[in-house]
Amino acid sequence: MNKILVTGALGQIGSELVVKLREIYGADHVVATDLRSSAHEITRSGPFELLDVTNDKAMFEIAKRYEVDTVIHLAALLSATAEEKPLLAWNLNMGGLMNALEVSRELGCQFFTPSSIGSFGPSTPKVNTPQDTIQRPNTMYGVNKVSGELLCDYYFHKYGLDTRGLRFPGLISYMTPPGGGTTDYAVEIYYAAVTAGWYTSYIAKDSNMDMMYMPDALTAIIELMEADSSRLTHRNSFNVTAMSVDPEAIAAAIRDELPGFILDYDVDPKRQAIADSWPHSIDATAAKTEWGFHARYDLKAMTKDMLSQLSERQM
Ligand code: NAD
Repeated sequence: MNKILVTGALGQIGSELVVKLREIYGADHVVATDLRSSAHEITRSGPFELLDVTNDKAMFEIAKRYEVDTVIHLAALLSATAEEKPLLAWNLNMGGLMNALEVSRELGCQFFTPSSIGSFGPSTPKVNTPQDTIQRPNTMYGVNKVSGELLCDYYFHKYGLDTRGLRFPGLISYMTPPGGGTTDYAVEIYYAAVTAGWYTSYIAKDSNMDMMYMPDALTAIIELMEADSSRLTHRNSFNVTAMSVDPEAIAAAIRDELPGFILDYDVDPKRQAIADSWPHSIDATAAKTEWGFHARYDLKAMTKDMLSQLSERQM
């Protein structure tokens, strides 16, 4: 990676990834783009362009003008919102991805896009979900993610495009609020713990899902992109995870730091149905063996850091 274009850069992942990429590769080497503008520091700390990823010509023009050699494609509609707006999800998630792949093919760029645990479905083995397994999701987001994984494989096999990807679990961060995913509760719960001392979960008590702290997710993207290509058998969509937790486990970890914290439930059937179709825990062995994936934060370490960062912001 030398000159990197990031789409959807103002989102939960992009807003932190761009900061880290600029630290490593230089501010001028990371072109942040998004559909919208904001006062976020990444719009000022290096090149920033307005870009709708469904506009192929605009994407090509920006990528060519900045002579990028890497495309990190993050713009997407997330699981819960995609279920509400399936047509928009298809057009953005598939149309945007196709445009980003085509631009990368035409300009010979290395390519990264995230998949998700949402690419699995009700018939996928739920415990220790293997890297290669049944993927028959029953959500629009899941359909988009499986199709995206296949499309990235196709571009590698057909055109030799250096496509890489990770199947992210729910990502937890204190910096940017999540953008409409099923695991958003796992971020909200920390904000609520610090501000109110209690939280009402829309996800049921015993729903285990995989999660990962944002610093581990950012490191994983960079390590995968820097990995020796010849070592990668599963180029697209490595399972990665740091923990498998339910709301009670997170609440217990919070209570170790804030003993009075209260958790209750008001389950949202729509988001619960999505959660029920996803694995309880996934197996990240392929990522560990092929490029050395290693999560540094477990639930305890993540909780400590989340609460201390959010409390500091309160002051
Ligand atoms: P997000 O919703 O926080 O951000 C998405 C960004 O895309 C937003 O800034 C939005 O303005 C932008 N966007 C929307 N439509 C656009 C368009 N037409 N053109 C350009 N930009 C547009 O998403 P995120 O959490 O940062 O996720 C990024 C990627 O990672 C997505 O592919 C998502 O599916 C995947 N992922 C995220 C998680 C997670 O927990 N955050 C987990 C698994 C996979």
